[in-house]
Amino acid sequence: LQTKLPKVGTTIFTRMSAMAAEHNAINLSQGFPDFEAPLGLREALARATMEGHNQYAPMAGLPALREQLAHQLQLTRGVSVNPDTEITVVPGATEGIYCAVMACVKPGDEVIVLDPCYDSYEPSIELAGGVAIHVPLGNDGFSPDWQKIRDAVTPRTRMIMVNTPHNPTGSTFTPADMDELQALAEEHDLLVSSDEVYEHLIYDGRQHCSVLQWEGLRQRSFAHYSFGKTFSVTGWKTGYCVAPPALTAEMRKVHQFVAFVAVTPVQQAIADFLAAEPGYPQTLASFYQAKRDLFYNALADSRFKITPSGGTYFQLLDYSAITDTPDYELCEQWTRDVGVASIPISIFSEQPQAQHYLRFCFAKSDEVLLQAAEILCKI
Ligand code: PMP
Ligand code: GLN
Repeated sequence: LQTKLPKVGTTIFTRMSAMAAEHNAINLSQGFPDFEAPLGLREALARATMEGHNQYAPMAGLPALREQLAHQLQLTRGVSVNPDTEITVVPGATEGIYCAVMACVKPGDEVIVLDPCYDSYEPSIELAGGVAIHVPLGNDGFSPDWQKIRDAVTPRTRMIMVNTPHNPTGSTFTPADMDELQALAEEHDLLVSSDEVYEHLIYDGRQHCSVLQWEGLRQRSFAHYSFGKTFSVTGWKTGYCVAPPALTAEMRKVHQFVAFVAVTPVQQAIADFLAAEPGYPQTLASFYQAKRDLFYNALADSRFKITPSGGTYFQLLDYSAITDTPDYELCEQWTRDVGVASIPISIFSEQPQAQHYLRFCFAKSDEVLLQAAEILCKI
């Protein structure tokens, strides 16, 4: 068989979670909470299925949910979005990203990705016949280097894929970054895929910058969101994609033949929960910031160098003062021998520059974070 994805194996998340289970290690590798979603949301799901919301939803998603999402975008970002023509509910942001790329990228098109970047981007581009052009994020805090990005644009560039707050580094775009992105996209007529799944997980007073808030970006962007992050239900695999009507129409053409629809009772449950508790997503920043601080403070006596994460539920630890073992070896070694599993970030880059970082997920109970930190302090 001639493989279409020769460079791809099983994802690092699947491998590290399996390895953590095998060695009984504390699993701070794959990103998911170890605590339950709000009770009201879980009850809403039970109710939705008992009350008969069990057949196909409309292809674009339940109208009641899309209306709640439009209301949320008004509330949190101050933007007005048409729920019928601009919002598509998807079975996870991964599917939304894939469908948007498939709908717009043609064979031979180039797509700029910023390394390190989320692992699903490049395979999506490749399956569309496109070519991923990797531009590393800057050395100082993993922010975008706009000159390098500009230098990577060619007449074949079709799209740029960005992600803020950023997995795996926890860096965030500033308004100045958004201005640069907008100027670049307008100048070269680029589409933008903006992965904003961690929009509510942002710390120290930073404000999330969405492509929906920059008029020039809004007209040429897909913004991707995930309920898995916002409601602590990664296993519900549901999210949504916002794009202007013409882009939404193209993206839906693909979505209707990849998944057709997202899961109905989950959509109903989230619509009901948001109607009852519209302010819930805005409670997440302080909740997760407290977890980040707990983990950070508990590592004060360790030998890691740490810059507190600016967003997401991931914290990078710089282990350069401890060893020069490559990160992909070290994370396996520590899962086996030390008992804490993490993710090596070099996996997310074409040409890894910095290999001395491991990513730890802090969406965990305080006891688990303290236990992990105690172990890490002994290294
Ligand atoms: N993008 C990023 C940056 C992520 O970390 C994740 C993680 N799950 C996703 C997309 C995919 O989200 P979903 O589970 O909704 O497909
Ligand atoms: N987004 C999650 C992470 O970064 C993992 C999702 C997955 O396992 N595909 O850890």
